[in-house]
Amino acid sequence: MNTNRRILLIVALMLIGLAVATITNVALNFRDYGYNNAIEKSKMTAEIVRDGLTAHMVNGMMDKRAFFLSNIANIKDVQKLWIVRSENVVKQHGEGMENEHPRDAMDNKVLQEGIIVREIREDSQNAILRVTIPYIATAYGTPNCLACHNAKEGDVLGAISMEFNINDIRQTGAMTIAKIFAINVIFIIIALWVTNHYFKPYMKLFENLQQGIKRARTGDFTFRFTTTLKDAGSEVAEQMNTLFQKMEETFGGIKHNLNTFASRSNISCSDPLSTASIIIQELSDVYKFKKTIELDSNKEAIYDRFVYVLKEKFGITHFALYEVDKNSKERKLIHITDGKSFCLPVADKDALECRAYRTASDVYSTDFPNICSNCAEAIEYSCIPFNINDDLALILSYSAKDAHDIETMNLSLPSIKNYFEAAKAVIESRTLMDKLRDSSLRDGATRLYNRRFLEEFIDKSSEQALRSNISYAILMIDIDFFKMVNDTYGHDSGDVVIKALAEILQENIRKADLAIRYGGEEFLVLLYNTTPEGAAQVAEKIRMRFNEKKFQFGNNTVEKTLSIGIAHFPSQADSIWKVIKFADIALYEGKHTGRNRVIEFEERMFTGGEQF
Ligand code: GH3
Ligand code: MG
Ligand code: MG
Repeated sequence: MNTNRRILLIVALMLIGLAVATITNVALNFRDYGYNNAIEKSKMTAEIVRDGLTAHMVNGMMDKRAFFLSNIANIKDVQKLWIVRSENVVKQHGEGMENEHPRDAMDNKVLQEGIIVREIREDSQNAILRVTIPYIATAYGTPNCLACHNAKEGDVLGAISMEFNINDIRQTGAMTIAKIFAINVIFIIIALWVTNHYFKPYMKLFENLQQGIKRARTGDFTFRFTTTLKDAGSEVAEQMNTLFQKMEETFGGIKHNLNTFASRSNISCSDPLSTASIIIQELSDVYKFKKTIELDSNKEAIYDRFVYVLKEKFGITHFALYEVDKNSKERKLIHITDGKSFCLPVADKDALECRAYRTASDVYSTDFPNICSNCAEAIEYSCIPFNINDDLALILSYSAKDAHDIETMNLSLPSIKNYFEAAKAVIESRTLMDKLRDSSLRDGATRLYNRRFLEEFIDKSSEQALRSNISYAILMIDIDFFKMVNDTYGHDSGDVVIKALAEILQENIRKADLAIRYGGEEFLVLLYNTTPEGAAQVAEKIRMRFNEKKFQFGNNTVEKTLSIGIAHFPSQADSIWKVIKFADIALYEGKHTGRNRVIEFEERMFTGGEQF
């Protein structure tokens, strides 16, 4: 039922209720009025009869009373009238006229009890009011009852019974009620018409508003409101139309922009306003993420934030994040949630073994059985490549026990990609900065780290080494009679010798070790967690490899030698700079004792005096 009909029904019900109450009230009052009227009439008649009979009695005309009584009975609406004598009166004055004895139980009751009794007898045709009034003996007035009757005051002397026709009253009541009913019906019809006439346009506008707002909830603001109203109603319609037009224009633009974003995001909401809200929330999250990582000082901090977002925002619990060096094709693990990767190590050595990197496209285990031959476990997984720049790419791989779980995670992928996309430029700039920084910390000719790097790096790593019980062996290396090469074969030849030594150093130390160009033709090597014997062996190997090297300068084949000093951190000193000095002292011990030698530092070599 629409609102207009509902209002009309309520109004109709209220008016009908009012009409019923009015009619009932009028009917009841009318009945009481007619009834009371007839009673009053009967009382008056009873008094007239009593006085008339008394007059007859006083004048000794009691035998003529029939005429008087029959005339009284002709009063309008009095259908029947008779009087009855009490037993006392019968005893004293005889039976009286033929019809003056009690005719029914009502007469007897009144004679016995001395009270007025009334009764209404109604059927569809007639309505009769029967009233019987007792005559009670009184001692007042002249003559009084006791003067003629052998009775005492209060005795019932007789009664008068009358039957009144109250049909007229009933009919008049019915007519009145019918008129009131008719007036009410007309009033209700007029009231409903007026209500309908004045309310309908408001209701129509209301329904119109409902329709428009319903459509607006689905993002459709094309609805326009119409009304026949001239007052505030038309103002409301106009204002709503202006609002909808503005919304249509503004929202149209937003929708277009959001659609470009939504297509890259997994937002499946049928309500565009909710979609917009979700997208804006996500854009805001991505923006905050971008703003945060822009202030992060290095790439590692950015990766840490990725890991946080993947875990906390996307709830991915099993994943690994890799970094691929596009030049060396090496894949480095950045983070893994559960210790061991499901990807075979071959893909770390050669990133081309990683299907996601090689194909530069997402790899889903749910697409094809055994889609990547380098997956070591029977699990479901997705591997997603993110290209950062010409040098760098990232690989995200996440896994789950069953296909349903992995597909649920895949739903978050468009959003995850938004985060990677936002971070791309930041990672690129951090990589560039790292590169620049790296070049300032490396020696241009040999590509080994330089002395500046050592100065930046050594304090931090020596403190960490002390805390973690890690030891370093320091090799201080110097080419013997190097100046002679420069002097004899030229500076370029000297450079060749220096580069050759750098290569030999790189070839003969492990990844965890570090070779540094310490000065002109002096090199420093840090051997990570090595025993003194191990360090001596490495030094010896370096010395021999260099010694074996033949340099061809013009027609001359030249061989060179090295002197190497070794000292140990922290066993020989808990300051790394002191240990470097000790290695230097050992080196010069080697120089003084014939060169082309590896010399271990001994305490006796240190004469002291220097502060570290
Ligand atoms: P010793 O056995 O005592 O070490 O004798 P040495 O001739 O090697 O003496 P020293 O270590 O003092 O000589 C180092 C020389 O190396 C001096 C410098 O001109 C030269 N030199 C330093 N850096 C470079 C470089 O980058 N290229 C070339 N060609 N020569 C360099
Ligand atoms: Mg030298
Ligand atoms: Mg030197």
